[in-house]
Amino acid sequence: MYAETYTNIVVYVETPFHETQIMFIIPKLREPDDFGAGYFGASRGKRKHNGIDPAAEPGAIVGSIVAGVITKIGYPYGDDLSYRYVEVTIPSGDRVRYFYVVPTDDCGTFEIGTEIEKCDPLGVVQDIAARYDTDDKKMNNHFHLEIKRNGEYLNPTDWLSEQS
Ligand SMILES: [Zn+2]
Repeated sequence: MYAETYTNIVVYVETPFHETQIMFIIPKLREPDDFGAGYFGASRGKRKHNGIDPAAEPGAIVGSIVAGVITKIGYPYGDDLSYRYVEVTIPSGDRVRYFYVVPTDDCGTFEIGTEIEKCDPLGVVQDIAARYDTDDKKMNNHFHLEIKRNGEYLNPTDWLSEQS
């Protein structure tokens, strides 16, 4: 049962395991917690989850799942500007968004228009669990991946299997 919760997609995460080593992993989906599950369409109260949540610890580096251009570096929460998201648009126009990821490259921060290749480091995973941590409710750390096409949210797992 739990094997089905592997994301089964090519998301590259560099773990800070050793300074000179990069470990690429395919993360599992976030395990269900007090705030919901990580799969596409999971319940979010009256809404449905519009992406997937690969499990990742703060500090892990997310690599781009596709080649494209950085088109937005945004803020998921108006009341806490420390959290960021990065949007990469591919040539077809589909937009790939990574939430709770601080954009970074070797020189500092990406700019809008920066071209990136598949697997290029995009950013560092943030501690989203800290935002939701209370005495009685906990969240498992993850980043959120969503795909938008003409305003519609697509299932990232299906979408990725269609990318060459
Ligand atoms: Zn999510």
